[in-house]
Amino acid sequence: MSQLQALKRCIEENKAAINEALAQDLRRPAFEAEAGETALTINEINCALKNLQTWMKDEGVEKNLATSLDTAYIRKDPFGVVLIIGPWNYPISLVLIPLVGAIAAGNCCIVKPSEISTSAEKLLSDLLPSYLDPECFAVVCGGPQETTQLLENKFDYIFFTGSFNVGKIIMTAAAKQLTPVTLELSGKNPCFIDDGFDPKTAANRVIWSHFFNDGQTCVSPDYVLCTKEMRELLLPAMRETLVEFYGKDPQQSPDLARIINDRHFQRIKALLGSGTVAIGGDYDEKDRYIAPTILVDVKESDPVMQEEIFGPILPIMTVKGVDEAIAYINRHEKPLTIYAFSPDSKVMDTILARTSSGGFCGNDGMMQMTLTSLPFGGIGQSGMGKYHGRFTFDTFSNHRGVLLRGPGMEHLNAVRYPPYTEENLRI
Ligand code: NAD
Repeated sequence: MSQLQALKRCIEENKAAINEALAQDLRRPAFEAEAGETALTINEINCALKNLQTWMKDEGVEKNLATSLDTAYIRKDPFGVVLIIGPWNYPISLVLIPLVGAIAAGNCCIVKPSEISTSAEKLLSDLLPSYLDPECFAVVCGGPQETTQLLENKFDYIFFTGSFNVGKIIMTAAAKQLTPVTLELSGKNPCFIDDGFDPKTAANRVIWSHFFNDGQTCVSPDYVLCTKEMRELLLPAMRETLVEFYGKDPQQSPDLARIINDRHFQRIKALLGSGTVAIGGDYDEKDRYIAPTILVDVKESDPVMQEEIFGPILPIMTVKGVDEAIAYINRHEKPLTIYAFSPDSKVMDTILARTSSGGFCGNDGMMQMTLTSLPFGGIGQSGMGKYHGRFTFDTFSNHRGVLLRGPGMEHLNAVRYPPYTEENLRI
């Protein structure tokens, strides 16, 4: 509890420095820095402080006839020393939220932030050792080379957030020591917008959740699926929303973050070649700026539909209706999240029943992330293992099955001891 309180103090006392680091790394607006990093982390710490006494309690379990006089329970033990490896897109919260659960469950921990978000990495390595017990918690900085070296050590648990390809490297390294892992990975999150849903409401919610952090969010709606008729209503609504949110010249808006680095700028710029630009499309390499862009007439085989976009481009694919949308989703890897907008609850039920994903949010984007009560994580290529709230505590706990038998009543045990004679078995 004292370490959790120290972590909370660390964030509260350094909010301005955190916002500044995120502004340097991603030109992240202060509101998005707070909503996406500090507020979410504080929320998780408060949840753990409030519930830890309950979560860590031994849990009594059902017993059988032979153990009816004994005590049987599940004890929540820490794993030991755990490793948390984070990405650059939410460089603070995506290491600190797992850390909350690792601390709550009683582990020692090494935190390895992303080397790409350099200001956040430096800030974490300066701050954490001065707030947390240095005998139990350490920050190790560096990129692939340093992480490879780190992974040569034996950890009791590894919690990784990042790309699918590096996830495989981490799991391979963990397998050498049979270390359990959680992998929070990536993918393309579909967003189906049904006919009949108010286009302006859909535009507001989808534009907000897609362009938050300039599209560099693992749960961002990656592409829209809708009918041609809905697309014709959505485009003017999206155009209007973009002007309302970011003004006539979004490059001048203080509310639009920037692409993390030149490599990602080039990667995302190349995706502009898919389909037709309906809105946006201009860019400024020196500013790592690509205007919020909506692409139409994209094909399933286009590059923009092959990889996670992770940037300010949103393609719209047209389908004939919900059945075709479901078929499209099911032809591809299971995503981290599916979004669906529909005024009809039967459509929601149909999508839920006929698809699979780590999470689901109906009629909005990203708001599921505000609930510590929902498990968060992927399935298939979007990852394995869940966290947030109690699920983080459980992830970092060894659920140890304990049976405590009484020392007496030995005569009752005769039935299970050799020699297994008929006479003995009848007792
Ligand atoms: P990344 O996989 O490139 O890097 C993640 C971490 O792995 C970094 O700390 C990095 O130093 C380390 N790393 C990189 N290469 C390595 C190697 N060869 N060996 C060992 N370690 C290595 O991911 P990223 O670019 O930082 O983050 C973006 C990706 O993360 C996106 O695909 C995004 O969808 C995903 N992501 C997922 C979630 C989630 O919760 N599921 C959240 C945020 C980001």
